[in-house]
Order: sequence, then structure tokens, then C-alpha cells
Amino acid sequence: MFSQQGHFTLGHSTAAISGLVTRAENNKALGIDSFMLDPKEIKKMLPEIDITDHPRFPIHGALYHPPGGIIRHDAVVWAYARGADRKGVQIHQMTEVQDILVENGKATGVVTNRGTINCNTVISVVAGWSSEVCKKVNVKLPFVTHPLQALVTQSYKPWLHHVVVSGTLHIYLSQTDRGEIVCGNGIDTYPHYGMRSTLGFLEGYAAHVLELFPVLHNVAVQRQWAGLCDMTPDYSPIISPIDEIEGFYVNGGWGTYGFKASPASGYNTAEMVANGKAPEMIEPFRYNRFAENRLVGEKAAASVGS
Ligand SMILES: Cc1cc2nc3c(=O)[nH]c(=O)nc-3n(C[C@H](O)[C@H](O)[C@H](O)COP(=O)(O)OP(=O)(O)OC[C@H]3O[C@@H](n4cnc5c(N)ncnc54)[C@H](O)[C@@H]3O)c2cc1C
Repeated sequence: MFSQQGHFTLGHSTAAISGLVTRAENNKALGIDSFMLDPKEIKKMLPEIDITDHPRFPIHGALYHPPGGIIRHDAVVWAYARGADRKGVQIHQMTEVQDILVENGKATGVVTNRGTINCNTVISVVAGWSSEVCKKVNVKLPFVTHPLQALVTQSYKPWLHHVVVSGTLHIYLSQTDRGEIVCGNGIDTYPHYGMRSTLGFLEGYAAHVLELFPVLHNVAVQRQWAGLCDMTPDYSPIISPIDEIEGFYVNGGWGTYGFKASPASGYNTAEMVANGKAPEMIEPFRYNRFAENRLVGEKAAASVGS
């Protein structure tokens, strides 16, 4: 399923390199295969990259994670859906939850555009729409919704065999099995719910990526899109029962990196709901940690934004 192998996080300054070295050492201590490369070693693996001192931000080194890669996300979602369906889960597509029913402090159902469903457990897993959905039961979450944009080029012969990320230029790129270059950067700097692509993103991305790969100066962009990201103040998610409403749970706040976390997130959420309390692994992600000032800093999780 992984069509590419190896993930580079580039460093363009002494400060960035020292941060990446710290990250490499932390990773090693946790048994994760990652180490630093110098510009010449980077060039050997990425022949098209510009390691000269001409770009505004010359490359000083990179954190390299050999097992890192990309995965075809829609195929993963279809596989999860098929597996859940086989186990008897009912999936109602095109069905919008418009209200959550609560009686005597207990969740009792949801009102949808296709009728009411009674139940004794409701889990809100609606990412960028979490604030709006939870508002229906007066649960105020510290989420701020920002769009995150991406684009793909037309297909080209395979030339980029690794994922490349630059925290300084705030960009990433990789090439799919179909030959398209998938490109993206950090979240839009201001919060809103718009999902339209912008020329500003395209221009900013193009200027930054050409500093790394001048070879891309003539590529044709095929399409752009944007999705909504639910950002929290400490960049960690909320996976938690909501004390004020029995049977109501929230899993959200994944921001820009919730896809890779889905298996662990889903497994632990299921255990939390089955036992009525969060398992130890996800307990720090409780929703009231902000009031208790016990944040779980996770800013490096999406290296584009670090
Ligand atoms: C451009 C882009 C690139 C990204 N790249 C990466 C990456 O490389 N790696 C990574 O790990 N993560 C990435 N992410 C983040 C990742 O996509 C999200 O964190 C992840 O999809 C969140 O999963 P989720 O299941 O919580 O929510 P989502 O996948 O957003 O699903 C929420 C669902 O809730 C539905 N919904 C909303 N309101 C209602 C309602 N009222 N009733 C019923 N349904 C409702 C929505 O329609 C949606 O289907 C990226 C995001 C974007 C936008």
C-alpha cells in the first residue's frame, strides 16, 4: 500500500538543524528509525533538489525517516468502511446530524435530515465541524477551524521517490503511483469555514517549492482543494467523555495530522465507549485538560507547521 519510502524533513538554518537533531535523538530513544543527513547525502537520494547556496534558505541538512511514506487515503477509508459493514455496522451516507437529544443529563439520540435515531451513546467525530455540532448541546470546545489547502499536478514519469517536507518553507510534496505530484503547506493563517482553493495558496506554494526543486518550473497544476482542520491550543486532539452529558463523547481536534492517527484513535475510542472511561493511553487527551492547565504539546506532529 505504501507507494513511496522515506521521509525527509529539511533544515535550512542552524536553529532548525539543532531542532531536527533533538527530534532524531528523541525518536531513536523511542526506537524509531530516524537520523540526520548532510546536504550531499540528501542530493544523492533526491538528485533534483537544489542544495546550492543560491536559494533564500539553503539546505543545511535533513532528518530522514526511512520507513516514512504516503498511503492512498481514500482506499484506506473504503477498506475501513467495508470492514465495519462486514461486522454489522450501519453506515448512513448523506445524513446530517442536525441536533443531539439529551434528557436528564443523558444523551438519548440524534435528529438527522433523514429522521431521528434513538440511542444511549453519541460520539462526535466531525473534525472541523466539531464546534458547530457540540454547540447544539452547549459543549464549548477550544477548537478553532482553519482550512488546509493542497494541490496535485498532472502526471509525470516517476522521479520523486521520497516524501519531502520543509518546516521553514512550510511545504511538503510527494509523487503518487499515478505520477501526480501532491503538494501542500500549512493551514490558512486565519480561521474560517470556507473550502475554496485560493490563488494566494497556489502562488505561495509555487514560490517556495521552486526554491527546492527548480525542475518543477513548468509543471501544470491539475486541481486544488481545501479541507477543514480542527486546531487545539496544544496541537493535540481531544478524545474524551464529556462529564456534563452521560453517554456523549468527543474525538476531534486532530488538526492537520488525524489521518495517520486513525487506527490508534479508533481503537482507543472504541475501548473508551465500551468501558465508559478513557484507556490510559488516551487519558491525557481529556477535554478539560485546558482548564486544568495540563496541556499535551504536540506541535511537531505535522512537520510542515513546525
Ligand atoms: C489538505 C489536507 C491534507 C491532509 N494531510 C494529512 C496527512 O498527510 N496526514 C495526516 O495524518 N492527516 C492529514 N490531514 C488531516 C486529516 O485529513 C484529518 O485530521 C482527518 O481526516 C480527521 O479525521 P476525522 O475522521 O476526525 O474527520 P473527517 O475525516 O474530517 O471526517 C468528518 C466527517 O464528519 C462529517 N460531518 C460533519 N458534520 C456532520 C454532521 N452534522 N452530521 C454528520 N456528519 C457530519 C463530514 O462530512 C466528514 O465526513 C490533512 C487534511 C487536509 C485538509
